[in-house]
Amino acid sequence: MKPRVLSGMRPTGALHLGHYHGALKNWVRLQHDYDCYYFVADWHAMTTHYEDHADLERNVYDMVVDWLAAGIEPDRATLFIQSRMPEHAELFTLLAMGTPLSWLQRLPTYRDQMVQATDRHLATFGFLGYPLLQAADILIYKAAFVPVGEDQAPHVEVTREVARRFNHLHAGGQTVLPEPRALFTEVGRMPGLDGARMSKSAGNAIAMRDEPAVVEEKVRRMPTDPQRVRRSDPGDPERCPVWKLHQVYSDAAVKDWAVKGCTSAGIGCLDCKQPVIDAILKEQKPWRERAEAYLGNPKQVHWIVEVGTERARRVARETMKEVRSAMGLVY
Ligand code: ATP
Ligand code: MG
Repeated sequence: MKPRVLSGMRPTGALHLGHYHGALKNWVRLQHDYDCYYFVADWHAMTTHYEDHADLERNVYDMVVDWLAAGIEPDRATLFIQSRMPEHAELFTLLAMGTPLSWLQRLPTYRDQMVQATDRHLATFGFLGYPLLQAADILIYKAAFVPVGEDQAPHVEVTREVARRFNHLHAGGQTVLPEPRALFTEVGRMPGLDGARMSKSAGNAIAMRDEPAVVEEKVRRMPTDPQRVRRSDPGDPERCPVWKLHQVYSDAAVKDWAVKGCTSAGIGCLDCKQPVIDAILKEQKPWRERAEAYLGNPKQVHWIVEVGTERARRVARETMKEVRSAMGLVY
């Protein structure tokens, strides 16, 4: 039996290259070595977007198509939708009873959002509690590993504390809920069109399924070294967002060509951008092909999610039987 991995993604719109390089690429790799459970975290989307659900259904299925397009194989990985699993909410409720408020209040994601998110009212119970809901998402499948970026590492730590406390309080120290471990991705942050971290809200993203013409246009309009005003001025790659994309997409020879050409004014900025455009289009090609097949057959996508949800449900139900019994709730 392969160790189980659990991960989720919020359906907040078309996935971009940051989602691919920061998470999805790793998911594709993991499905060969682990028993992977990947879920659409629609309840988690609601922790920050609770007022608007108009696009939710479309976002859910668009995201599943993005996953499949990226190379997630439904025969290897179990794909499901969180809101179809009321067991997650039940475990969340039961874990909430013994979880100190301070464990959630001290998390950096909570503290940062309270400072930064001035556009939305996030002083909600749902937002404070979402890391505990994540803990339930993970523990209900007894996942051994959770792939995370640095920013989510404290959430895995809380999950471990919650599991430990549950086992101590309700299971006499026996392991009903095993402590998961973080599985760190070596991929750093994917830079966007302006050099800052790619994100949809920053408006600096290239979507996984952006049309080739759109990709080309976006990259051609990228700002470069602001001090390289004329074609004849030598540039400094360290000041240029395009250079950051070369670091993701180009091999040593192309990077060497770009640095030499830039610092000697031997090439223009559009010349320098071309290999990046080509690399992105090449990366997108298989995604586009796979996505087309699924978009032409939406029933198949629904069926994949249906099968995954039922597979996940069997596991979640078993765990909840044990949890209820440990907590004296079987009567
Ligand atoms: P966005 O921030 O674009 O609005 P989102 O908030 O819906 O999207 P996140 O929760 O920020 O999505 O990201 C989902 C996953 O993708 C996380 O694992 C996150 O680390 C990863 N990710 C997103 N953007 C990037 C990026 N630019 N570089 C690396 N990883 C990223
Ligand atoms: Mg984000």
